[in-house]
Amino acid sequence: MSTPCDIRSTCPYCGVGCGVLLSPDGAGGLAVRGDPEHPANHGRLCSKGTALGETLGSDGRLLTPRIGGQTADWDTALNLVAGKFTDAIAEHGPDSVAFYVSGQLLTEDYYVANKLMKGFIGSANIDTNSRLCMSSTVAGHKRAFGTDTVPGTYEDLDQADLVVLVGSNLAWCHPVLHQRLLAARQRRGTRIVVIDPRRTATCDGADLHLALAPGSDVALFNHLLAEIDRTGHVSTDLAATVTGFEAALAAALADDVGVTGLNPDDLATFCKLWIGTERVVTVFSQGVNQSSSGSDKVNAILNCHLATGRIGKPGMGPFSVTGQPNAMGGREVGGLANMLACHLDLENTSHRAAVSGFWDAPVPLPDAPGLKAVDMFRAVGDGRIKALWIVHTNPAVTMPDADAVADAIAACPFVVVSDITGDTDTARLADVLLPAACWAEKSGTVTNSDRTISRQRAALPAPGAARPDWRIMAQVAQRMGWRDAFDWQSEAEIFREYARLSAVAASFGRDFDISALADLDEPGYGALPPTRWPVTGRDDAERFFADGRYFHPDGKARMLPLTHRAPAARTSPKYPFRLNTGRIRDQWHTMTRTARAPRLSAHLGEPFLDIHPDDAADLNLIPGALVTVASPTGRTIFRARQTDAVAPGQVFAPIHWTGDTAPSARVDTLIPAAYDPVSGQPESKAAVVSVTPFRAA
Ligand code: SF4
Repeated sequence: MSTPCDIRSTCPYCGVGCGVLLSPDGAGGLAVRGDPEHPANHGRLCSKGTALGETLGSDGRLLTPRIGGQTADWDTALNLVAGKFTDAIAEHGPDSVAFYVSGQLLTEDYYVANKLMKGFIGSANIDTNSRLCMSSTVAGHKRAFGTDTVPGTYEDLDQADLVVLVGSNLAWCHPVLHQRLLAARQRRGTRIVVIDPRRTATCDGADLHLALAPGSDVALFNHLLAEIDRTGHVSTDLAATVTGFEAALAAALADDVGVTGLNPDDLATFCKLWIGTERVVTVFSQGVNQSSSGSDKVNAILNCHLATGRIGKPGMGPFSVTGQPNAMGGREVGGLANMLACHLDLENTSHRAAVSGFWDAPVPLPDAPGLKAVDMFRAVGDGRIKALWIVHTNPAVTMPDADAVADAIAACPFVVVSDITGDTDTARLADVLLPAACWAEKSGTVTNSDRTISRQRAALPAPGAARPDWRIMAQVAQRMGWRDAFDWQSEAEIFREYARLSAVAASFGRDFDISALADLDEPGYGALPPTRWPVTGRDDAERFFADGRYFHPDGKARMLPLTHRAPAARTSPKYPFRLNTGRIRDQWHTMTRTARAPRLSAHLGEPFLDIHPDDAADLNLIPGALVTVASPTGRTIFRARQTDAVAPGQVFAPIHWTGDTAPSARVDTLIPAAYDPVSGQPESKAAVVSVTPFRAA
C-alpha cells in the first residue's frame, strides 16, 4: 500500500527499473519500499534496492564546484568550462572535444548532452559507459530489424514455456526479474536453460546448464539454426518477413559446434527443448555483449528467432536485459557516438537534416560516428582531445586497460568531471569538479529493459550547491553562446521537446515514437505513470513485429551469415588462464553508493579470484591464498577462492573493487582494449592472465 506522503520513483541500479516508494523521514533520510503498482516489480525489491535508503547522506558528497582543487562559485566554474571548450573548438575544431557520460543519467540529461555535442558543437564525440554494457545489442538489433527495437517485454517471461538465459547471471544482476521468472516457473512450469561458462547462482533454478567455452555462443546458435532447418521447423512465413536465410544457414552449416566444448547429449537436449517449445524467450546480457564478437552473438540468437517466426508474439522472442538503469533512455536520445536522437541515423542525410532543422542547429550535424569509448580515450591519450567532460562515471578504473586510460586522462589539457563525489579515481584527475545531484534529488525519466518509461522524482533537496545534470550542461551551453536553444526551465520542458522530436523520427517510419506525450503539462509530467513506448495516441500495436513488418526499407528483417570467432586474446604458456569478470549480488559498479550500506558489504566483503581446485592444486595454493594475477596490460592481487563453479583453465573476478576500495585489486587493469569491430564494445570477459602465488617483495 502506498500512502499520500510516498513519492513514487525508480531504483537507480539496474535495467529492471523497479518502482520504489520513497518516504522522507524529515532528517535527510528516506524509507524505501517496492512500489506494488509498478509493472516491472509489483512491489518486489532486491537487496540493493532495499538498502537504497542507507546509501544517502552528504558524507563524502561534492558540495561546491572546485577548480584546481580549490572551492569556486558556479559562475566562475561554468564560465571556465564554457571558455575552455569554446577555445578548443575554435583552435582545433569540434572533434577536439568529447563527452563521456553514463547510463546513470536521466533521459532529460542525456538529451541535453547529445543536443549540445551533436547539434551545436557539431561533433559526434559523445559516448557513454553504456558502450561497455549493451552496444553490441544495439548493433545487432539495427542489423536485423533496421532499428534498435527491443521486441520483448517482461510479460513474455511470465508467458513463456522455456526461457534460455545466455551470458546472464539474472539471479544476481537482475534479481527482481529472476524472482519473476521463478514465480512463473512455479505457476506454469516454465523450463529454464542457462548458457554460461561459469556455474552461477542462476543455475540453481535451471533445468539445464550449458557451460560452453568462453566466446563460443555464435557456434552454439549456428548449430541450433542448422537443427531448426534439419528438423523442419523453419517458419512458413519466412519468405514474406525475412531475407538472408539461405546465406545464414550456409554459414551455420559450415561452422564447428565443437568449439563450444559441449557434449553431444547436452547439445541435443538443448536443441530439442528450444525447437520443440513454441513459446521460447532467449534472454541475453553482458556475457553476449561484452565480446569482440558481441554483435555476431546477438545476431546468431536473433537468426534463430527470425527463422522460426518466434518473435512479436506473446511469450516468445529474443530479449536483451540492460545493466544500467537508463541504458535504454540513452539509446533513445542517441547518446552514443554512432546514433542520432530518437533512433534516427547519423549517416542518413534526411535524418540529419530533419534533426538539424528541429534543433535550429547553427552548425552541420556530424555525418559519421564519433569516437566510441575505447577510441575516445586513445584519442585523449594521443593528444587529439583537448577538452573532455566526464559525467557520473569512473573510466580511470572501469575502462579496459584502465591504467593507460588513467594516464590519458591525467595528460589531457582540460578535464571536467560532474559527479556526486570528488573522491573517485577519475575525479581526482579533473581540472574542474562540478557537484551534481544524486538520484534521490533528481527529477526526470528513465527507460527500463522492456521499454517502460518511468518517472524518477526528487525526494530530497540536493546538498550544498549540487545541481541536476541537465541544468549544468544547459548552463554551459548557454555560456557557449546558445542561449535560447538551452533555455529550459524544467525537466518537463526538455521531455516535451524530446517527445516532439520523436514525431519527426516517426515521420521517417522509425520505431521510437512518444509524440502523444508532447503536450504533457507540468502536472501531467509530474503524474506520468510507467508507460511503455510507443505512445502515439493512435491505435498503438500490441507489440513490435506482430505483423511481420520490420524497419528495413523493404519491411523485412535480416538474417546474417555468421561464423564463430575466438576471443581476441589467446591463451599461451605465459598467460594460460581465461579471465571472466562480472558483478556480485550486492554491489554496484565501483561501489560509490553500495559501499555506504554495511549490510551490502556483508555479502562478499573483499575482492576475490575464483579458480578451479585442480588449477589451485597445480599452483600449490592453500585455501584462501593470495595470488598475483598478471595480464599483458596489468597486475593485481586477489584472494583465491577454490570452486568448481569455474572450469579448469578459467578464473573469475568481480568488477567492483577499484583504486579506492582495493588499490591492488583493480580488475580492469587486466582487460585488453580489444573490442567488437561493429559495436565498439570492449571484450571485458575474455582476458588472458597468469596466476601465481603472491609473494611479498
Ligand atoms: Fe533495483 Fe535492479 Fe534490484 Fe530492481 S532488480 S531493486 S532495479 S537493483
